[in-house]
Amino acid sequence: MMRDQDRLGRLMTEEQGKPLAEARGEIAYAAGFIEWSAEEAKRIYGETVQAFVANKRILVLRQPIGVAAAITPWNFPAAMITRKVGPALAAGCTVVVKPASQTPLTAIAIGALAMEAGFPAGVLNILPGIATEIAEAWLSDSRVRVLSFTGSTEVGKELMTKAAEHVTRISLELGGHAPFLVFDDADLEAAVAGAVDSKFRNAGQTCVCANRVYVQSGIYDRFAARLTESVEALKVGPGTEPGVKIGALVDDRAMAKVEDHVANALSLGAKIRTGGRRLPQGDGYADRFYAPTVIEDVTPDMKVSFEETFGPVAPLIRFDTEEEAIRLDYGIVGANDGLPSTPQAPFGGMKESGIGREGGKWGVEEYLEVKYVSWGI
Ligand code: NAP
Repeated sequence: MMRDQDRLGRLMTEEQGKPLAEARGEIAYAAGFIEWSAEEAKRIYGETVQAFVANKRILVLRQPIGVAAAITPWNFPAAMITRKVGPALAAGCTVVVKPASQTPLTAIAIGALAMEAGFPAGVLNILPGIATEIAEAWLSDSRVRVLSFTGSTEVGKELMTKAAEHVTRISLELGGHAPFLVFDDADLEAAVAGAVDSKFRNAGQTCVCANRVYVQSGIYDRFAARLTESVEALKVGPGTEPGVKIGALVDDRAMAKVEDHVANALSLGAKIRTGGRRLPQGDGYADRFYAPTVIEDVTPDMKVSFEETFGPVAPLIRFDTEEEAIRLDYGIVGANDGLPSTPQAPFGGMKESGIGREGGKWGVEEYLEVKYVSWGI
């Protein structure tokens, strides 16, 4: 993957829309899961446990769970695949992946590289197709022992229900609604840079991107002004153009959601500091570019406050005390860090954001079965 980083990055930009530098970065991030998992495969240990009696030994073995199935989204067309495939292969499972319909090409390119690398036939299978039919076939087949899904909470819930038929293990990475907190004593420039990285990467189409930006009163005016300046400086355009930071949204549905969220906020009293409209860019691009946006005077009744926007819109919310800001449960916390995801750390959410963790040794556990052997001697 790293040998072909440029080719894969370009392919991803062309099919998904993110800027080329981000796409190349994703290839490196995606390859990191393969490298980490290959190393971790050597450390899948069993254990022996002290028995209460002298004539027994307690052995705990770890074995591959069996055939692993994966369903992945379009927003990270390479990394969401390798984050599942790497650990599954490390555990000793064969894998079949259904990529998102918007981004099958990056998935197929990864499959072709696996063939070139000499994977035995059938170990890694890429299967684009009709999502509901594929999921139905997998979950009604007792040979599929684990289904790892990344996508919307709605579909995740549906799959969880269907997994009951054969008690298929299920791992879910679902929607997020992450807050970004800025306290009065923050380093202003670092906070602005972190907010831009977290909010505007992939044009805001990231499950862990900041969906709400809470700013303490003492720094609010300065932060809002600097953030607005930085956001206005983000170059919008086709991802293949040099210097572009905000590419096209993935499809018309994504555009409609962003427009709906902004219109809803404005109708309930929010104000635009910058952006707030789609950009006409000429043939082929006209409908898919949304200006990077900052809105303020945001209140809890607005959709941006309780639904994932999945677009380049930063809603600012003022708060006064630390206690008000930290009453939240989150699977990942980036303290002074707008981009905490990395192959060696556990990635995952709490409550309706999912079940299980991907990355590091925790990711491999999802594909292992524990077998206990009581050995009489
Ligand atoms: P989605 O509609 O749930 O689609 C994701 C995947 O599920 C696609 O491969 C899709 O196939 C498939 N799918 C759709 N309906 C299905 C069904 N009824 N049964 C089985 N599979 C089905 O999600 P999306 O809206 O495209 O993706 C964005 C969502 O993913 C956001 O909510 C985002 O937060 C979440 N996400 C989460 C993470 C994470 O790590 N937690 C990472 C990235 C994205 P088709 O494309 O063929 O319809």
